[in-house]
Amino acid sequence: MKLIILGPPGAGKGTQASILSEKLGIVTISTGAMLRAAVKENTPLGKEAKVYLDKGQLVPDELVVSLVKERLNGSDCEKGFILDGFPRTVNQAQVLDKNLEIDKVLTLDVDDEVIVERLSGRRECKKCAQPYHILFNPPATDGKCDKCGGDLICRADDNEVTIRKRLEVYHEQTEPIKAYYMQQGKVVIAHGKEKIEDTAKEVLKILGIEER
Ligand code: AMP
Repeated sequence: MKLIILGPPGAGKGTQASILSEKLGIVTISTGAMLRAAVKENTPLGKEAKVYLDKGQLVPDELVVSLVKERLNGSDCEKGFILDGFPRTVNQAQVLDKNLEIDKVLTLDVDDEVIVERLSGRRECKKCAQPYHILFNPPATDGKCDKCGGDLICRADDNEVTIRKRLEVYHEQTEPIKAYYMQQGKVVIAHGKEKIEDTAKEVLKILGIEER
């Protein structure tokens, strides 16, 4: 399956992508995680991207598009993939369409105020980027990743000012993508719930994937 997960920051895209990746045996490609890794490694792309990430703005299309194109050429994408955080603009969606056919676009709907509250408790593994939440999805050992044992950190852009900016950017630039894919009849909508497993159940049902 070639799937896009679309939704505001903090809707649970990364968490649902991780559950689906495991169930379907396909990779998740997160542009946010790739960009943060480039910032951490201080690569030329990372240096350029940092300015935008820190402000909660979108990184210019050409930088992200070439990053994704290269990643999609990986042999691990042959069976299918989940795109988390890409496309973020209608232009990115159009470029993607020119290169390959997406099967479905899963939209995760969550209210803005719920998101602001939620993101302050979000944590991420410094090593493998696995997402956690201090209340809704805590790790087994405080501050350590269940998957790789890495340290859990709070993302630099998960502060209220930047969160509100990212929501504004989402509504202005990313939400129109929904209408774009609706015209293609590819959109399925799930409602982000308080409990991760409840959202996951709805996601599996609307994607027609059996629960095991
Ligand atoms: P995320 O982890 O998906 O919330 O992304 C974090 C930040 O990375 C965003 O606020 C943007 O600055 C940048 N970013 C991630 N994906 C994209 C994209 N597809 N286009 C432009 N900027 C992106």
